Amino acid sequence: MMRLLNYIDGRLQEPVHGRYLPNYQPATGEAYSLVPDSDAEDVAQAVAAAQRAFRQWAATPAMDRCRLLLRIADRIEERLDDLAAMESADQGKPVRLARTVDIPRASANFRFFATAAVQFASEAHMMESGVVNYTLRQPLGVVGCISPWNLPLYLFTWKIAPALAAGNCVVGKPSEFTPLTAFELSRICMEVGLPAGVLNIVHGTGPTCGMAIVTHPEVKAISFTGSTRAGREIAAAAAPQFKKLSLELGGKNPVLVFADCDFDAMLNRTVAAAFDNQGEICLCGSRIYVERPLYEKFREAFVERVQKLRVGNPADPHTDMGAIVSQQHFDKIMHYLSLVPQEGGRILCGGQAVHPEGPLRNGWYIAPTVVEGITQQCRINQEEIFGPVVTLQPFETEEEALQMANDSAYGLAAVIWTQHLSRAHRLAARLEAGIIWINCWMLRDLRTPFGGMKQSGIGREGGWEAMRFFTEPRNVCVHP
Ligand code: NAD
Repeated sequence: MMRLLNYIDGRLQEPVHGRYLPNYQPATGEAYSLVPDSDAEDVAQAVAAAQRAFRQWAATPAMDRCRLLLRIADRIEERLDDLAAMESADQGKPVRLARTVDIPRASANFRFFATAAVQFASEAHMMESGVVNYTLRQPLGVVGCISPWNLPLYLFTWKIAPALAAGNCVVGKPSEFTPLTAFELSRICMEVGLPAGVLNIVHGTGPTCGMAIVTHPEVKAISFTGSTRAGREIAAAAAPQFKKLSLELGGKNPVLVFADCDFDAMLNRTVAAAFDNQGEICLCGSRIYVERPLYEKFREAFVERVQKLRVGNPADPHTDMGAIVSQQHFDKIMHYLSLVPQEGGRILCGGQAVHPEGPLRNGWYIAPTVVEGITQQCRINQEEIFGPVVTLQPFETEEEALQMANDSAYGLAAVIWTQHLSRAHRLAARLEAGIIWINCWMLRDLRTPFGGMKQSGIGREGGWEAMRFFTEPRNVCVHP
């Protein structure tokens, strides 16, 4: 079985205590590699390496940092096919999705922030008396980047790239469930000649390895994407040290479908918003509210489309939905499905595990599931399932739609389908979500602020928001 290694101080290293965790392939349910079960000692080595590298990296001309990050982007692009195959094997997602979304986006993250390194600027504030204030924005030092399993390389690089572009050194930890492409990133960094210690990748579990990064006194900021539960633990652990925090957490995103929408475009994107990546995207639209006059037509067309989705081998280019990432997550989703009848709901399609023939029979597959008839307050409508399960509810008025959409502890994204321009803007201003899509879903411009409100997190990623997060502003006031 392949053994993955930590990337510390420019070298691939065994974990200090030689402990490893099994890494499972969701398509087969079998362990297929070993991932370091690193602890505070490994993290301490990584932080020390990052500290040693920091002074020189921060002083490296922005254009040189830019060139190195562009080389990483190029190398990811050149390796599109094999990185996509690895991501699909490790996460369970269809290889088609990894090839068209995950890996191109990982490369785009490095390309985008490479150029941000040379374009980043800071403000100056003049006073009438001729006094000038200017803002120095300097890198923080060593920062921690912790990412989840659903979009492994995509989200890991979304943090690492701006941190490095701004001149920080990084200790990163990918999810222990999907470590493979982060390990490959270590090799790419070595190939392109990233100086030792600038990026360190330590593998391991959240409570042990992740927490050691969060609590290390020399780690100045934590950029975290993951569950609201872990985000809360991280916020509590980081608070006594007053660390800078960016927390991108869970979602339970509403989709509002009005009767005047462009039906075909809406249907296509609403199916994708519900079931892309097996519903394991924080931005998935899992609560679908449909204006009453359209409800029957929508339900029929939606269920018909969902029933045609092909669930199975992630490596097959025709697969629409692959395997669920882990046994633990599979069990969690199945538990929610068992709640449907108890909560008074009806399953319109799906609702069960799928068992492919042959070598994939022990993989973790769930049929795309559509539920109706539940109330707004039931658990299926309020808790993040993070799987291929959506609920349908009709609404009568715009105000009712808004109320139901906002009736959630989460506030990450919301989608509005309507041709009524002023209604769309009116709703966009009142929906409690950090990201609003009107007549589209998952359309991303990397310059825009990305993140959620309420229990979906604090802070924003993307564009200058990320560059500002990874720098410390210092005002300098000059009297003439
Ligand atoms: P998770 O919180 O279990 O783990 C995320 C990462 O944090 C992993 O690397 C894990 O090892 C680490 N971790 C876990 N507990 C930790 C702790 N106490 N201290 C330090 N590190 C810890 O989340 P997950 O199951 O990997 O991912 C799914 C969740 O991520 C969902 O809730 C989803 O909505 C969320 N998510 C949010 C966004 C966003 O941008 N808002 C994007 C993707 C996923």
